[in-house]
Amino acid sequence: MRMDEPYGDATNAAGQQGGYSCARRSGRRAQAVRRWTVTDMRRVASDLADADGVLLIDIDRFQNINLAYGREAGDRLLAGTAERIAAIAGRDAWYRTGDDEFLVVLRKRREEPAGLLESIRLALGEPFGLGPATVCALVSIGAALRRRGADQNAEQMIREAAVALRHAKRRGKNRWHIYEPGMPCVKAERLELEYELRRAIREGELELYYQPRLELASEKVICLEALVRWNHPTRGLIMPREFIPIAEESGLILELGDWVLRRACEQKRAWSDSGILPVKISVNISPIQFRDPGFAGRVLEILRETGTHPSCLELEITESSVMEDVDRALEMMAELNVNGCSISIDDFGIGHSSLHRLKLLPVKCLKIDRTFVRNMTSDKNDLAITHAIINLGRLLNLQVVAEGVEDAGQLELLKKASCTTIQGYLLSPPVKAGDLERLVREEKLVC
Ligand code: C2E
Ligand code: MG
Ligand code: MG
Repeated sequence: MRMDEPYGDATNAAGQQGGYSCARRSGRRAQAVRRWTVTDMRRVASDLADADGVLLIDIDRFQNINLAYGREAGDRLLAGTAERIAAIAGRDAWYRTGDDEFLVVLRKRREEPAGLLESIRLALGEPFGLGPATVCALVSIGAALRRRGADQNAEQMIREAAVALRHAKRRGKNRWHIYEPGMPCVKAERLELEYELRRAIREGELELYYQPRLELASEKVICLEALVRWNHPTRGLIMPREFIPIAEESGLILELGDWVLRRACEQKRAWSDSGILPVKISVNISPIQFRDPGFAGRVLEILRETGTHPSCLELEITESSVMEDVDRALEMMAELNVNGCSISIDDFGIGHSSLHRLKLLPVKCLKIDRTFVRNMTSDKNDLAITHAIINLGRLLNLQVVAEGVEDAGQLELLKKASCTTIQGYLLSPPVKAGDLERLVREEKLVC
């Protein structure tokens, strides 16, 4: 099966369920894609009441396709996938339950579940023509089947399918998995957060805070680290340690990462326009963003679009993202460097850096992980490691930032060790842009 024009023959599909007919009436792809989304879960529950099973089908790396080819192409791909699902579902109900997620209700199928799932995976993975490009919507599928004697209501079955889907994703995507009792369950709260995070990015619930980095010699702030926060409408402020891993697992990190970069650049631009805070902004980059082949290009595009000079931006990359594939990392860093962005290695000391390779990387700065700084006044080993990193930085002519400096004792030891820069609560916690402006106005921070 190959479909170059997902809408070409839409009317013959047995997609009377799930609002598919809306697509035919409106003729507008984006609108149609939106309208398939099921909003009334009661309908799904009643369909599931006497079903033999349920499938959750999720397109792998859909955000990459959106980002690489644009949303219009993404919508076409969704439309094409929906059409294939409609054909597979036959008279069974199917729904779109998330951006790139579909639910199929299984009833009285003659095929063995394994055979059915494999044929669905293969059928959906066939190439699509999206204008000049041909892409494959590889999918992961989670299935929950009705078990004799088990008490599975609709909600339970969907949860089981979600657990199986997550398992398939974790094992490398482009595969299916059938739920088995006893599989590690994902907390409902985590699934909920993942769902809400999609909304949060689009509806402006994320906010950047900024933490200053101080150069010890000049006693001036030389950089501001952008740190993302989620202002959740009912749960309050959520910290990145709680939602960045969820964003990474669900693939949302690419969209979130783009938002952070764009917002940081816009803020930098606004400060430049008003003649304040003439310092760099550093942005944390997830290994998943860095692994994306289009990453450097996108950074440069965002800089261009926001009118920000590349020399104003520093990218904080972790040791493990670099060491995963050093040659590729070198290429990516070189492209960013040539264009004027600088790169620092974050959380240095806890990953697996090869010093030989470190020497080759076009890196400007090492950030000593907070865990070493925290204990340096009480633990001789941590003090020794901090010293070693500072010396390494000096020999390689790099800026070294001690992170998480909280008290005068730590500062004293860092000064003695000739550390160049510090960041931490002693100077300032991460604060909102407006509060930072106030600190500068009141001369509590000097740039
Ligand atoms: P990080 O990049 O190592 O950021 C430093 C973290 O240490 C921040 O936590 C900061 O608030 C905290 N910190 C700074 N000074 C002190 C101190 O003196 N004492 C203590 N106890 N903590 C201090 P935060 O903002 O919760 O961020 C945690 C991590 O989440 C960051 O670690 C970074 O890895 C990640 N992160 C934050 N924002 C982003 C983002 O926009 N994108 C990505 N990919 N990751 C982000
Ligand atoms: Mg950082
Ligand atoms: Mg760090």
